[in-house]
Amino acid sequence: MIEVGINGYGTIGKRVAEAVDSQPDMCIVGVSKRTPDHEAASAVDRGFELYAPDAETEATFSAHELPVAGTVETLIADSDVVVDATPAGVGAENAPRYERAETPVVYQGGEDATIAPTSFCARSNYEETVGRASTRVVSCNTTGLARLLSPLDDRFGVESVDCTLIRRGGDPTQSDRGPINDIVPDPVTVPSHHAPDLRTVLPSVDVMTKGVTVPATLMHLHSLTVRLDDTPTAAAVESCLDDESRIELVASAHGQDSCAALRESAHDRGRQRGDVWENCVWTESITVDEGQLSLLQAVHQQADVVPENVDAIRALAAATDARTSRQLTNDALGVGLNSPLA
Ligand code: NAD
Repeated sequence: MIEVGINGYGTIGKRVAEAVDSQPDMCIVGVSKRTPDHEAASAVDRGFELYAPDAETEATFSAHELPVAGTVETLIADSDVVVDATPAGVGAENAPRYERAETPVVYQGGEDATIAPTSFCARSNYEETVGRASTRVVSCNTTGLARLLSPLDDRFGVESVDCTLIRRGGDPTQSDRGPINDIVPDPVTVPSHHAPDLRTVLPSVDVMTKGVTVPATLMHLHSLTVRLDDTPTAAAVESCLDDESRIELVASAHGQDSCAALRESAHDRGRQRGDVWENCVWTESITVDEGQLSLLQAVHQQADVVPENVDAIRALAAATDARTSRQLTNDALGVGLNSPLA
């Protein structure tokens, strides 16, 4: 069993903790949190040992009658691999702790790419991370792009990509984020930071990205134009994407006609928090004109990086190869939104 510590039990950390807990070859040593809030209480309810970033926080937890197993130093020392899911920038502050303890660590996309020797998307570059001391799972948007472009590049060759990312303003609980009533070029500069981020996992792809933020919390939506080396039919592209376990082909005609409908499908299939781990590509949008592919896809920002974190743990632990890890992760989670077993 790979013993895993989760440092930062928030939006991403709690999901990764539950995903790790469901794997046949992993167990949770404990989770760390800074605030003695309802999420901390829910971690205790789930049976996860709670750790605090420092002695002062430990005392605050105890004052709130939340049992604490120790400080993060102990969690790091007792774990085979740590997932750092603290807020963007805090991972960099934590880096010396992992180095001192020589505990391999998975960072998140909010950290700078220079924090680790590799950036990670299991479909694109799992092997580069095997046995390393650390890696960084790329952001939710970049994960969505890498998952889509890797199989297209393998099957048809990708010459260039132009993508507009219609970004959610914040997660559902982030009531301090916006816009409330606007459409904001974000960033206004082109390319957006997503293009260089994508090249950390797919260095050879010629990609242009533009970002726009809208008053929504449910998912991001990507509008892509991909210039392919080959000239496949739309049906061949559909078949290529259909072969990908973390890409779900969805149809407006079947009622999955919006981000809200996709999240509702996930709720209906019994998914915790209505999480959608897969890229959702609308079949009706897949159009190819002389090697130029256009399509629309949605990615659930809180969920798509979760299976990637699980695979990144196996890669750091040199536990198995990419195909086996992805299969193990998918089977344990029940990846496949529209499959009979979802
Ligand atoms: P979050 O604010 O929801 O959760 C962070 C957690 O870390 C909180 O529970 C907080 O109590 C805890 N924390 C804060 N400081 C800490 C410290 N010093 N030690 C231990 N715990 C501490 O943040 P999030 O949205 O889960 O983001 C985490 C990372 O994942 C960021 O790098 C972010 O960019 C990335 N990410 C976020 C999303 C998303 O949609 N929210 C998607 C992909 C990647």
